Amino acid sequence: MEKRTAAGWKRTAGICLAVLLFVLPVRAEKNGDGQGPGENRRLQILATSDLHGRFLPYDYVLEQEAPDGSAAQLASAVRELRDEDTILVDAGDTIQGNGAEFFLGEEVHPMIQCLNAMDYDAWCIGNHELDYGVPVLKQVIAGAEPAVLAGNLCDAGGKPLSEGYVILERGGVRIGLIGMVTPACRSWDPVEREDYAVSDPLEETQKIIDEIQFDVDILIGVYHMGIEEEHDTADSGVRDIAMACPDFDVIIASHNHRLVEERYINGVLIVENRSHGETMADITLTLEPEDDTWVVSSCSARTIYAKDYDPDPEIAELMARYDRRAKREMRELE
Ligand SMILES: [Zn+2]
Repeated sequence: MEKRTAAGWKRTAGICLAVLLFVLPVRAEKNGDGQGPGENRRLQILATSDLHGRFLPYDYVLEQEAPDGSAAQLASAVRELRDEDTILVDAGDTIQGNGAEFFLGEEVHPMIQCLNAMDYDAWCIGNHELDYGVPVLKQVIAGAEPAVLAGNLCDAGGKPLSEGYVILERGGVRIGLIGMVTPACRSWDPVEREDYAVSDPLEETQKIIDEIQFDVDILIGVYHMGIEEEHDTADSGVRDIAMACPDFDVIIASHNHRLVEERYINGVLIVENRSHGETMADITLTLEPEDDTWVVSSCSARTIYAKDYDPDPEIAELMARYDRRAKREMRELE
């Protein structure tokens, strides 16, 4: 799809010439990486979500092989597809399910070890990350090397559990990633009993966009939220975010485990993956220079299927001891 509207904040900036004149020199300076004028760039985003403890292609509950998906298979796909301009993100629900609970006491949870070994750039907290309470989640987060996004989980003083955004740079292009969890989790997670509240993700998103809009060229949402609202909770679907914030170029949806290969809402590209590492979204943006920034001139997405890949040997070796332990723990439960 052609998307020539440019990022929305460029329109916003254009409203006020004084603001634009003030901003231009700052942005030109930040973009001064020697890129020649008129050169298009390609930016690849690989996105996963809802891995639910599936580090290897094995279902520890059913005690059987599960070749349809795993982090280890996706690691092989990432290894094949990634180049130096690739961004790799996960939209959460990572440390719950498939026996992942056995490993909450580990210094670094095996699922987090997978994210670290695969060199993820960002990981958004999912509602199931809250299942064990905030103290446990804080310990899990401490072991994570990717930027941890949780922009609408705040303590009583308004301090977020983790940052709501991160700004990455690829070849002179500045990419803002924003991440929030579904506010519907207020009703089913223990988080609020521990002085943490789940605030409105749209309000938090708009605050972040106001803060970073002149510091980024491209804006990507990594949301642990489905596309539509759930349980009559306001702003709990990424449709709400895309409709209110056309500044986004791409939003990674998640949480519903329904494959959405490529959909456009209000001009924003939306994707969603199946759960348990069965699929990974492979998004390609073509960027062209415009004034002092970059705009998306075209974008597309396709689905990568984990079943087409063998487990990555490095991840398989890293996870072998957890595989043995999960099988043993499951047997002891019987
Ligand atoms: Zn979820």
